[in-house]
Amino acid sequence: MVWRTICAGALAGLSIVRMTASARISELIGGIEKMPLEHYVAPARPPLVGMTRPQLADMLSELEVPAAQRAMRVQQLWHWIYLRGAQTFDEMTSVSKELRGALDARYTLARPVVATEQVSVDGTRKWLLRLPGQHAGEGAHDIECVYIPEAGRGTLCVSSQVGCTLNCSFCHTGTQRLVRNLTAEEIVGQILVARDQLGDWSARTPQRSDGADGGRLITNIVMMGMGEPLYNFDAVRDALLIAADGDGIGISKRKITLSTSGVVPNIVRAGAEIGVMLAVSLHAVRDDLRDRLVPLNRKYPISELLAACRDYPGLSNARRITFEYVMLKGVNDSLADAKALVRLLKGIPAKINLIPFNPWPGSAYECSDWEQIEKFSEIIFNAGYASPVRTPRGRDILAACGQLKSATEKLSARERLALRAMAMTD
Ligand code: SAH
Ligand code: SF4
Repeated sequence: MVWRTICAGALAGLSIVRMTASARISELIGGIEKMPLEHYVAPARPPLVGMTRPQLADMLSELEVPAAQRAMRVQQLWHWIYLRGAQTFDEMTSVSKELRGALDARYTLARPVVATEQVSVDGTRKWLLRLPGQHAGEGAHDIECVYIPEAGRGTLCVSSQVGCTLNCSFCHTGTQRLVRNLTAEEIVGQILVARDQLGDWSARTPQRSDGADGGRLITNIVMMGMGEPLYNFDAVRDALLIAADGDGIGISKRKITLSTSGVVPNIVRAGAEIGVMLAVSLHAVRDDLRDRLVPLNRKYPISELLAACRDYPGLSNARRITFEYVMLKGVNDSLADAKALVRLLKGIPAKINLIPFNPWPGSAYECSDWEQIEKFSEIIFNAGYASPVRTPRGRDILAACGQLKSATEKLSARERLALRAMAMTD
């Protein structure tokens, strides 16, 4: 469990308790990581969503379903949950009434609750999802999930944590103090909720008119929402393997991209155990600058990060790693930086994704001038790399990268103290 390695920071947690509410965020987040302060509390009836096939088979064995029937029953449940989007056991008409009753008594199919939905003028939709499993007096665990429609495809941006334990200095999510890992159910739940909201179930709803990707609206998934997915490895792996399963949600691994700030040991594991496309948040070409922008770099410097990228399985011109590079005015956007970037990535099948910095209240950076972004992009393009500049989407609803920061932050001072006291006693 990742938290254990981080919880060595318990003293840091104590010092947070002593700080006044007006303490500057930067004082709280100076280090590489902050400790998680909240705990997941399982609901009274555990969720079926998020269970792997072997876990479903074990669950059926506990319900005394005969061994010979289990594989067939697992397939039926999988079909109802992930292909048809069933929200109640009652509608699973191919499952015996007796088994439906037994499942209903012990398990739930409940989704994260949609607290708010915002629709941008450009069609981007952002959902604030409220997660169950809260102690009395504990604030909501809110996460955000964003759907971005484009011609011929639709991308769902999914969160992996409430907040993020890392402290990238340009990222709004990184300033959120309350952090916990999402469960596999909560990660898959975001996809199910998005399909519910969009009416995007293949077995239920009409297909999109252009017929692309079997007619579904959600064709691609990016783990680029709140949190560092490789600090929540097991849940992210289980959730993405469920999303890629062809008998259910069915979004192929080539259309799923996991973005990481550079957790080197888990990049290796992701290659072996998940096999989706990789995006790496590079943002700087020198360690001294990357140490400041992405403090995790002090643990896993650029050379180690790029070595892990070179070894990522299955790379080819058709399967490239995306390197994300946020354009920060006067910080990392010189033309010398662009040339160094090209040299650094030599030999790695790569795409370079330039992201205009999305400012947020209190951020210490500005977005590079458009002219500078174009010159930077030209150097990369002339070196033979595709270098799309990511068009900011949903800016009017704060749905763009690095702006996701949920209402969890808005706990009262008393609630925060109660939470921290709980975190200390565990
Ligand atoms: N934690 C992972 C994935 C979530 S962040 C990661 O860091 O890769 C998704 C992307 O948004 C990352 O490339 C991140 O560096 C970028 N990002 C964060 N804050 C941003 C901001 N304010 N403006 C533009 N991009 C930002
Ligand atoms: Fe976390 Fe990614 Fe934001 Fe860094 S950029 S603080 S790793 S969400």
